[in-house]
Amino acid sequence: MTPDAIVVGSGPNGLAAAITLAQAGLKTVLREAQARVGGGLRSSELTLPGFMHDVCSAVHPLALSSPFFRTLPLAEFGLEWVQPSAALAHPLDDGSAAVLERSLDATAERLGPGGGDWRRLHSPFVRRWDELSHDLLGPPLRPPRHPFLMARFGLRALRSATGLAGSLRGTPARALFAGSAAHSFLPLESPGTAAFGLLLSVAGHAVGWPIPRGGSQRMADALAAYFRSLGGEIVTAAPVEGLDELQAARLVLLDLSPRQVLRIAGDKLPVGYRRALERYRYGSAAFKVDWALDGPVPWTAAECARAATVHLGGTLEELAASEAAHARGTVHERPFVLFVQPTLFDGSRAPAGKHTAWAYCHVPNGYALDVAGRIERQVERFAPGFRDRILARSVLAPADLERRNANLIGGDINGGMMDLRQVFARPVARPTPYRTPVSGMYLCSASTPPGGGVHGMCGHHAARAALAEVLR
Ligand SMILES: Cc1cc2nc3c(=O)[nH]c(=O)nc-3n(C[C@H](O)[C@H](O)[C@H](O)COP(=O)(O)OP(=O)(O)OC[C@H]3O[C@@H](n4cnc5c(N)ncnc54)[C@H](O)[C@@H]3O)c2cc1C
Repeated sequence: MTPDAIVVGSGPNGLAAAITLAQAGLKTVLREAQARVGGGLRSSELTLPGFMHDVCSAVHPLALSSPFFRTLPLAEFGLEWVQPSAALAHPLDDGSAAVLERSLDATAERLGPGGGDWRRLHSPFVRRWDELSHDLLGPPLRPPRHPFLMARFGLRALRSATGLAGSLRGTPARALFAGSAAHSFLPLESPGTAAFGLLLSVAGHAVGWPIPRGGSQRMADALAAYFRSLGGEIVTAAPVEGLDELQAARLVLLDLSPRQVLRIAGDKLPVGYRRALERYRYGSAAFKVDWALDGPVPWTAAECARAATVHLGGTLEELAASEAAHARGTVHERPFVLFVQPTLFDGSRAPAGKHTAWAYCHVPNGYALDVAGRIERQVERFAPGFRDRILARSVLAPADLERRNANLIGGDINGGMMDLRQVFARPVARPTPYRTPVSGMYLCSASTPPGGGVHGMCGHHAARAALAEVLR
């Protein structure tokens, strides 16, 4: 068929864009460089046969909060969410663990003196998460639908994570907040880093931190199957090398980061826009380790077995030191580690009695040294005997991640730094950041608002902007 639209790249944003266009009746083709669809939503037997690992994203509070994904009939196309009984655990050296329960009250009760502070901080936003998530993940530069709620959130979110966490009483509450804020990949003293802590904790209470049964690939496969049911066509193992290959279509949506856009379309861009894309900044990277395990992780704090996600790194002060280190170009001896243990809740991913685990820490962009040992020491610190359970490991350094997905420039998993300036001017400051100066060409990746994470809203908004142009 001669397509109306071609979407390049099948990450969650490419899939969301393609679905939005197909829902509007456009003949849409999705082109993917790799053999399978999914981008950051791929799963693979990285270690041993029968052990299914998530190569990139593993835990999906943002997918469940996504105003667009929530409207799609993905369960009919094979997606099943698994909800661990707690969203997140954060062990400490005294053998205890702070736990982000689904219930705000249950969380607060166990946070000692900081419990009341935790409840007061989160409760107005947990109650109204539906409305707030629409505004937070909504189209950029539009007046919010709930301005007072957004203003209340914004006043807290614009603070630094260390500032807001420091206002909570007690080590457990501070550490629990700082762990979520550290998903920003930024020094925790930076203004705006509190936003990540607040957003992820509130989402944890409101919708949980779920995992897809069978692995994240199942979500990509469900999105792809739904897209095909709308008449969409998917072509895999088909990297796009230049814009000229896409001339047949009236609309071209690129689920790519600025560096690749410059590579495939640089000669078509006006100088000012090209320079602006060249100035786009990439952030720190992920260094990832996956394990096949002989048994479950032997946590000192038993509560850690109630959550798929466990944040390893200790106190607020330790986490702040770890996050300051990668921003300075080095890696802390005891880095903050994001750890996921999916098979405790989803036995389909490993042979009976065996387990998988997934982890990464933050390293400078393009970092070439091996920090797998430091990651394992952090796990061992809170789960002595962990190393004895390792059957096999897969190590993906920043360059390996980029080889598997060209969007992960230098191992940056957010499609570019998410500091205050670049959250709004993403990838450049324009009234419609998705539209490029080339007629019919749009950007729809995590390098556009609202940025990184599996929520599909960059793709959805870009497609809506493109449709508005077609209708005009
Ligand atoms: C290690 C890791 C852990 C993560 N953990 C989480 C998590 O737990 N929860 C969460 O919400 N998010 C997580 N993320 C972030 C999330 O995966 C990304 O933010 C999200 O996938 C971005 O989606 P996207 O569609 O913009 O791009 P991507 O998912 O990166 O997809 C881009 C696609 O474009 C394709 N492509 C690139 N160049 C070309 C070309 N020239 N021609 C054709 N196709 C091309 C790529 O192969 C890829 O399939 C993680 C990411 C990584 C890497």
